[in-house]
Amino acid sequence: MTKQIAFIGLGNMGGPMAVNLAKAGYTVRGFDLAPAALKYATDNGVTVAASAAAAAQDADVVITMLPAGRHVLAVYQGEGGLLAAARPNALFLDCSTISVEDARTAHELIEEAGHHGLDAPVSGGVVGAEAGTLTFMVGGNEGDFANAEPVLKAMGKRTVHCGGPGAGQAAKACNNMILGVSMIAVSEAFVLGERLGLSNQALFDVAANATGQCWALTTNCPVPGPVPASPANRDYQPGFASALMAKDLGLAAHAMESTGVDARFGAMAEEIYRRFAEGEGGQQDFSAIINEIRANSKTKEMA
Ligand code: NAD
Repeated sequence: MTKQIAFIGLGNMGGPMAVNLAKAGYTVRGFDLAPAALKYATDNGVTVAASAAAAAQDADVVITMLPAGRHVLAVYQGEGGLLAAARPNALFLDCSTISVEDARTAHELIEEAGHHGLDAPVSGGVVGAEAGTLTFMVGGNEGDFANAEPVLKAMGKRTVHCGGPGAGQAAKACNNMILGVSMIAVSEAFVLGERLGLSNQALFDVAANATGQCWALTTNCPVPGPVPASPANRDYQPGFASALMAKDLGLAAHAMESTGVDARFGAMAEEIYRRFAEGEGGQQDFSAIINEIRANSKTKEMA
């Protein structure tokens, strides 16, 4: 039975996730490079270790919630790495969003070191991390998934076992590719409707109850008004920042390339969000892409 958990990466997501584990009664020893992240964790019931390796000693479960694949692979390996520091048969859960390729490399390294591993990226954002309502998409073997479930349930409300190593990351990349493409499609439709003299509310009332219905429209509506809780009503404060959407679409694009899939809309969405996130749009909710579409449309009209 899991008693002690090491938690590496106590940022916007990892901080509240580690706190929820402590609240659920686990002994959590955390580590992060950022002093502010360490302070939030200690203020909320997480013990802080002097290094990642020190956090992993004696842990039954080692969780990582880091920015990218290179951070995960670096913190796993070498002298002072988590794989060497953990006791044999520890369960490694990587909850970061990384490429399928890096996730499979991580699985191999974990197994070679005599441990068990799952890729377990999340959806639900910072709000879900704080409320303990994340969804975990999990890749790895059945037995390890069963062992991880009580721990994951302390941080989220849904766990989906998607298949073998890398399947969790694959599910996340595919889902977010749908989301990026559909947000662009919904935003283009609103801008076109505006140009045609249609009110945003009228288009919403039709599409939300017709075949255009989707999450980007009915929950995260890119125009203010129809869905009061959507980021458009608070000047596009995220929500889900465009920079993160650009990152996730980059991972999907990497997967398209390695598999040779002809996903033209996915590739275009990746390009559109990458450009948008390079500017001020990066810190805005991804629904702010509608403003970019409107601005580009104006330029074309004047040309
Ligand atoms: P963040 O930047 O807030 O947190 C990452 C933390 O990792 C930082 O505190 C950083 O100091 C720490 N870190 C980096 N290298 C480290 C190392 N070697 N040792 C210890 N700590 C180290 O990022 P976040 O928003 O918490 O995202 C974490 C992961 O979750 C990312 O992979 C992201 O794509 C994914 N994710 C984020 C969201 C979101 O809404 N923020 C939603 C879903 C998934």
